[in-house]
Amino acid sequence: MNPGNNRLFGTTHPPGRAPLSRTGMSSDCDAANEEKVNILLVDDRPDKLLALQAVLNDLNQNVVVAKSGKEALRHLLQTEFAVILLDVSMPGMDGFETASLIRKRPATEHTPIIFVTSLNQSENQVSRGYSLGAVDYILSPIIPQVLRSKVAVFVELHKRTNEIKRQAERLRQLEETAFKRQLTEAVDRLEMETKRNRFFTLSLDMLAIADFDGYMLQLNPTWEKTLGFSEDELKSRPGPDFVHSEDRPAMIEQMERLRDGASTTYFEGRYRCKDNSFRWLGWTAAPFPAERLIYIFARDITQRKINEQKIESLNAQLKQRVQELTDINSELEAFSYSISHDLRAPLRSMQGFADALLDEQGDQLDHTGKEYAQRIVSSAKYMDALLNDLLDYSRLSRAELERESVDLQTEVAELITQLSCDIQQRHAAVKAEVNGVKVSAHAGTLRQILSNLVCNALKFSHPERPPIVCVRSEKRERAVRIWVEDNGIGIAPEHCDRIFRLFERLHTSQAYPGTGIGLALVRKGAERMGGSAGVESVSEQGSRFWVELPIA
Ligand code: ADP
Repeated sequence: MNPGNNRLFGTTHPPGRAPLSRTGMSSDCDAANEEKVNILLVDDRPDKLLALQAVLNDLNQNVVVAKSGKEALRHLLQTEFAVILLDVSMPGMDGFETASLIRKRPATEHTPIIFVTSLNQSENQVSRGYSLGAVDYILSPIIPQVLRSKVAVFVELHKRTNEIKRQAERLRQLEETAFKRQLTEAVDRLEMETKRNRFFTLSLDMLAIADFDGYMLQLNPTWEKTLGFSEDELKSRPGPDFVHSEDRPAMIEQMERLRDGASTTYFEGRYRCKDNSFRWLGWTAAPFPAERLIYIFARDITQRKINEQKIESLNAQLKQRVQELTDINSELEAFSYSISHDLRAPLRSMQGFADALLDEQGDQLDHTGKEYAQRIVSSAKYMDALLNDLLDYSRLSRAELERESVDLQTEVAELITQLSCDIQQRHAAVKAEVNGVKVSAHAGTLRQILSNLVCNALKFSHPERPPIVCVRSEKRERAVRIWVEDNGIGIAPEHCDRIFRLFERLHTSQAYPGTGIGLALVRKGAERMGGSAGVESVSEQGSRFWVELPIA
């Protein structure tokens, strides 16, 4: 049963709960003042109940009435009361029985009970009532002021008790929050620590903390895995003791720098292993002067060192080989120069005598004899051209090439004039688009390069169309690219590189005469002037040879 339904006085607030202030908030103090507590009146007589209610109305609390002991017990099961006014003489369950049942329940064993009894029965009842836990007696007829003030004391007491309970609860909650916070902080710290430790133990690199005397104080397991020494062995002696004697002075110097407050240093040195071998370690160390500690991060760089040594020795071998080849090359060049040079004299005499034979004795020779003599002449000519080219090539390889600023337009114009006969005979057209371009080159070599490229462009013309040749320039960042373009027979892509080598030819001398030295000369000349050469070509359509030289 809801005790609010039995309320005869007071407000409509549920018992035991104070209304909120107008702002919707209430301080604890306000709450204590505005709180209404419950008062239970138990009497079988409605008139007496009414009278009691009228008296207590002034206290402005929730008054709950019960017309029997049983009904009172029912209310007590559901509601908390500040005080119970209990009529002693009630039919059925009297006040004492009711009181003893109230006391038996833990929830109500301390609820104050004021017995209401008539004056004539008071004597023997008072002592029994106190033995049953009564806190006071009210004798009827009731004096309203006395009743009100007695009840008011318990109302106040109850309110105070509630207030204390509330404060205790608040305190408990505050403590609980603080405790939870501390707990969370502790858990976070622990987690961080665990992670850091994990980082330390799982690292594949060697991590350590050493003191300023070089003794390791803390090491991760990678040290033991790498060097074979146990943690205790590594801690037992100062670090430099483990370092290779050749690297020790450098390490000691590094340690001194760290002690003097240098920032992070890097050092590479060999560290002794348990089996007396050495491993290369790359150390990064940083001091922490306040604690006189050095934080070390070391990495096994043995493999890198081995590779470096291999590369070094390979480089040395390579250098030696290059030197040997250069020497051989110079010897070969000197050899071929002297051969070419020395061969020319007998060749000239062969050619001279063959010519003389034809001129002077030609009438006496029959057809075959004439043909043989002519073949000697043409072979000697070919060989002379070959020797000439070879001599040019080896001169180019050996000569000191002084570079100067060369005006490309002038060079190309002169070349076209020189070749005008050939151009006319072949019904060719040669254009130049090189206005105002200057390159840094050796003039003679550049002339030779341009001549070789333009002569080739005229020579390897397509049988079905007259040759059209264009010399153009293209400015690059720090160089000039000179293009010699033709509409000739073109070159298959797979041959584009090899034609720059000595004696590489794609055709027979009958189809296209030549020695196979011209393009080798072009590339060699370009390279010797700090440039390069190449070709782009489409078979049957034409070729675009290029030479790139530094801009003047
Ligand atoms: P040569 O002209 O004496 O044969 P080069 O070294 O100048 O020797 O040229 C090598 C080969 O490259 C030539 O035999 C020819 O097959 C090819 N070649 C050179 N220039 C051209 C060109 N403009 N068009 C097509 N083929 C060329």
